[in-house]
Amino acid sequence: MIGIDFGNQSCFVAVVKDGGVETVDNDYSLRATSSVVAFSARNRILGVAAANQRMSNLTNTISSFKPLLGWRWDDFFVQDELNKLPYKVIPHHSGGVAVEVNYCGKDKSYSVEHVTAMLLTGLKETTEVVLKGEIKNCVIAVPSYFTDPQRRALQAATKIAGMNVLQILSEPAAVSLAYGYYREDLPDEDEAPRNVVFVDCGHSSLQVWVCAFSEGNLKILTSCSAPSLGGRDFDSLLGLHFCTEFQKKYNIRPESNPRAYLRLLTEVEKVKKSMSSNSSVLPLNIESFLDDMDVSGNICRAESETISQSLLNGVETTLKNCLKDSKLQPKHIDSVEIVGGSTRIPAIKELISKIFKKSVSTTLNQDESVARGCALQCAILSKSRGIKSFKVQDIQYHSIRIVWDESLQEDGWKEVLPLHGPIPYSDSVTFHKQGNTFKFKVKCPLAEIGDYSIDNFSYELGDTTELRLDVGMNADGIFNLNEATAFHNNPK
Ligand code: ATP
Ligand code: MG
Repeated sequence: MIGIDFGNQSCFVAVVKDGGVETVDNDYSLRATSSVVAFSARNRILGVAAANQRMSNLTNTISSFKPLLGWRWDDFFVQDELNKLPYKVIPHHSGGVAVEVNYCGKDKSYSVEHVTAMLLTGLKETTEVVLKGEIKNCVIAVPSYFTDPQRRALQAATKIAGMNVLQILSEPAAVSLAYGYYREDLPDEDEAPRNVVFVDCGHSSLQVWVCAFSEGNLKILTSCSAPSLGGRDFDSLLGLHFCTEFQKKYNIRPESNPRAYLRLLTEVEKVKKSMSSNSSVLPLNIESFLDDMDVSGNICRAESETISQSLLNGVETTLKNCLKDSKLQPKHIDSVEIVGGSTRIPAIKELISKIFKKSVSTTLNQDESVARGCALQCAILSKSRGIKSFKVQDIQYHSIRIVWDESLQEDGWKEVLPLHGPIPYSDSVTFHKQGNTFKFKVKCPLAEIGDYSIDNFSYELGDTTELRLDVGMNADGIFNLNEATAFHNNPK
């Protein structure tokens, strides 16, 4: 019974033990396991070991693949991701996305779902050794903005890894649960709830949400996200800055050499982290960089903020949108909690303070809260001994439409599940149809969820059939069409 945070840069696993929650160490006695899968001439390498050999096996080392999970090859988002990755990404025969690697001397391709399953298998096996027992059930987190197909893909990957997924939990719900579960000062249900804003800026994305807490339950009120605004975007802007500087200074183009560029990004990330606690000018030195040349540069926090201004503007917009959507005034917000590695960036903390008009709190463990919340939810759902229940009321992060004729635009679709409605949720929607077939697609704004055809319902010429669809969104944030019923309706 574990909770898993499948991060774009690192994964964490937590477990509930003796009524408390603990983050589990991996085979390197570290809590963070790199989200990396590598293939070599002899074996498959996972996690920290895979990250450690990346430089010498660049094209067969698969990292940063979380954003590709569950997308179709021709989705614009995938095409946008491709130029960020140093390995080969190809279309999968299913229409999805695959990676191509050389493994044991042969060219092989694996779907992103399969690569995710490999990583999760490694996490499971390592955790089994540490916990000295078989792991059957888990709760695994997804970012709020993950679409239905992405959630299904992660669910499938977790099952391939041999685990039973008790719930796909949104990262907002997981973090909020980790915050609220052990608090003894939450208001009673008949009092005004405590409203807390959370900001999670990780490696690949930014999520902001508001959660209302009262004794024994939490309710996500609203959420805004920027799926392509995370630490790696700050690294790439700083990386480009040094590429330009090194071209002028040394007449070299690191961006044209994947290995050199990755080395540069690794050093840039280190300097970025140092800048979070140090505002003075910091050096960036790389020995035997390109053509055996040693290079050096420097940067300070103020300069890095200027370079990253476009990203900071994106952070500000997302924070403002979340506050606006919540319809709350800053004075109605009790605290603002930060999680995720990139919220350590001082400029992000300052923006959060400015918009919500309070200083940021770091009540939570910034790196481990997602996994800890998932572990708690796993224990709650399993009704583990000594674990009190806690109600988690999550929301739909996408609106869902039934689309029967795209060419008709607004006359050709109907919203069946609203954005930010509660989950789980079910409803009946009625359509009046002529003919005995209803073909439609189910879509959320960014992805197609499914293609449906309801055939051969009873119909006579001139009749209108009332077709009732029972639709719903389950606690995993996955759409279901439960039933379709036709009512014959003769107008004569
Ligand atoms: P995601 O949530 O996007 O799936 P993740 O959960 O793997 O990814 P985190 O572990 O929350 O991401 O954060 C990793 C990011 O945080 C990296 O980009 C890293 O460079 C950045 N980071 C970590 N520490 C600091 C720091 N002190 N200052 C600035 N950035 C930092
Ligand atoms: Mg994360």
